[in-house]
Amino acid sequence: MFQSLFSGLKDGLIWRLLRENFRQQAFNYIVAIVAMFMIAGTTALTAWIMKDIIDSLDANGNRTRVMTVAATVALIFSLKGIASYTQVVFLARAGNSIVAQQQRRIYEKLLRHGVAYFKGQASSELLMRVTYSAQSARTVIETMATGLVRDTLTLVGLIGVMIYQQPTLFFLSLVFGPIAILGVRLILKRVRHVMSLELSSLTEIINVVQETSVGIRVIKAFALEDRMADRMNHAVAQVEKRANSLSRLEAATLPLVETLSGFAIAAVIALSTFSFFGMASSGPGHVMSFVTALLMAYDPARRVAQMRVSIETSMLGVGMLFSMLDEPLTLIEAPDAYPLPDGPGEVRFQDVSFGYQPDHPVLSDISLTFAAGQTTALVGPSGGGKSTLINLIMRLYDPTAGVVLIDGAPVTEVTFASLRTKISFVGQDTFLFSGTVLHNIGLGRAAASEAQIIAAARAANAHDFIEKMPQGYHTLIGENGGNLSGGQRQRLAIARAILRDSPILLLDEATSALDSESEALVQQALERLSQGRTTIVIAHRLSTVMNADQIVVIQGGRVAQHAPPAQLLRQDGTFRRLHDLQFGGRAAGTED
Ligand code: ADP
Repeated sequence: MFQSLFSGLKDGLIWRLLRENFRQQAFNYIVAIVAMFMIAGTTALTAWIMKDIIDSLDANGNRTRVMTVAATVALIFSLKGIASYTQVVFLARAGNSIVAQQQRRIYEKLLRHGVAYFKGQASSELLMRVTYSAQSARTVIETMATGLVRDTLTLVGLIGVMIYQQPTLFFLSLVFGPIAILGVRLILKRVRHVMSLELSSLTEIINVVQETSVGIRVIKAFALEDRMADRMNHAVAQVEKRANSLSRLEAATLPLVETLSGFAIAAVIALSTFSFFGMASSGPGHVMSFVTALLMAYDPARRVAQMRVSIETSMLGVGMLFSMLDEPLTLIEAPDAYPLPDGPGEVRFQDVSFGYQPDHPVLSDISLTFAAGQTTALVGPSGGGKSTLINLIMRLYDPTAGVVLIDGAPVTEVTFASLRTKISFVGQDTFLFSGTVLHNIGLGRAAASEAQIIAAARAANAHDFIEKMPQGYHTLIGENGGNLSGGQRQRLAIARAILRDSPILLLDEATSALDSESEALVQQALERLSQGRTTIVIAHRLSTVMNADQIVVIQGGRVAQHAPPAQLLRQDGTFRRLHDLQFGGRAAGTED
């Protein structure tokens, strides 16, 4: 029967789940399984003792016998109580530990993925997968443990009692078994289908909530509330509908098995009166014991029948779990990686080509040297590949051809840790973590003292506004710094980079207009930060462009021009045209 129950399951997944998790939790499972044996045994005994109960009531006046039976009943039920408690507690303990362990495993794996992995999927989907899949692993193992061990053993015990008490009747009642299995199989097919639809709708709900939280300003500004509400209503309605279908399907096994059991019991009672089955002489005790066993078999039989349905609903999550754990890492540290050698921080591109998708080259054949200690401004039309260049220096992606070298060492050969220590990045979207101001700046360098953090904040022109916050450096920043202005957030990011004090600085200048006071403060802070460092900046401000040591014009994924600003202005080329177009007639220092 179990063969048929599990034949359709992705067997590999089940065995892998058991192999990876069962052993670690062996102690908890062994205790739970011993308890399950006790539950099965005591349940069978309960049916068995019915005969003695009936017979002892019949045995006029034999007090000792009645007392013995009464004491046995009390003992059986006490044992069953203790066993049930033990089973639930130890199974839950193992289950919770599995959830925790899977969540840790998935997250560790996530952290090792490259940026490309996260760009490739919606964060809501990731969230859904991480929370749901670990839970599923637990559900599957628990369902299998209770179904295969407790319920099956109980059934075996009860069947034993039935066979012993009334063999002929037992074999007659067997007719109903196959009908039940057939019904369950039909239901299963539907469950699989509905479950996958349900999951995609759940993801959409998370998606809508997340987009609302992140994009609330756009939603308000464009009055998109109705549209978002429509999307949400639609997703919620879908989930509701599918949840109902699932419940209907799961519940459909109930009447199926229930009706069949009813018929079986009715048949037994009716048949027991016919002497040609040879039961009339066996006495009411035997028949009572048999009927009790049959009634008690109903619950475990129903659970065993439903087990396959429950497992199937959770297997989808287990599949997700393993696909996440098995996903190959696209960006890995070389096995013989060495720390980046000490050096002034020269960055060199040698014949570098790269594309995010194989057939869409973004950078072609770039050969460039960013001299140590100098500031190079990257300019050029949007989409030309400037940010991509910076991504390659940080090794967020690997080139498809050529090498990026820092102080002569290819970035693909050095350890991630040493590479990242060498580089600071200040981008347009300055991400802040939940925590205090102190904590956020302190992320720049492990074990920075409070004095060092404050010094960095001063250098970043952030000290004054931090001091004015309610708890100064200990003020909690809301999620992603929601209560700070753009300029303030940028200065916190600059303070973080100052604290980091790395020889290479990568900057993506903000394009969003800061108010002029903020702008001046940010500008000043950036100048302080870039002093003496190899600075590569995606420049939007004319002042940055004109004050840079070198300008590199990136256009269509190639280096169009490369020279100091004054020299480029004298040449008739892209830079002059861009300059006249963007900055023509405007004073230095204004936004583009
Ligand atoms: P720039 O910084 O000069 O504006 P980018 O380096 O951001 O240019 O982009 C260069 C090209 O690469 C653009 O065509 C852009 O659409 C594409 N691109 C950027 N990031 C990704 C990504 N994560 N996946 C796919 N394509 C990308």
